[in-house]
Amino acid sequence: MALTGGCEALDQDWQDLLGKVARAGFYGVASTGIYCDFGCPSRPPLRKNLRVFAAAEQAEAGGYRRCKRCAARDVHAWTEAAPI
Ligand SMILES: [Zn+2]
Repeated sequence: MALTGGCEALDQDWQDLLGKVARAGFYGVASTGIYCDFGCPSRPPLRKNLRVFAAAEQAEAGGYRRCKRCAARDVHAWTEAAPI
């Protein structure tokens, strides 16, 4: 299944990924077909393989599968840490 969707990673996305900043959104790795939330402890992908999604549903719709490491955490750290 071809992987589709997502946005090009901006410099800020890349910095947040490298810094493991737990923020809104998800990133997909086009070379593996896995997507993660920002702040996932997994090794960073190559930037050229990086796609950014606003919602998990968008990544799923694009053919990406959830990373086991951040799926285990289940909830976004940022939703816990930043009550509105
Ligand atoms: Zn992950």
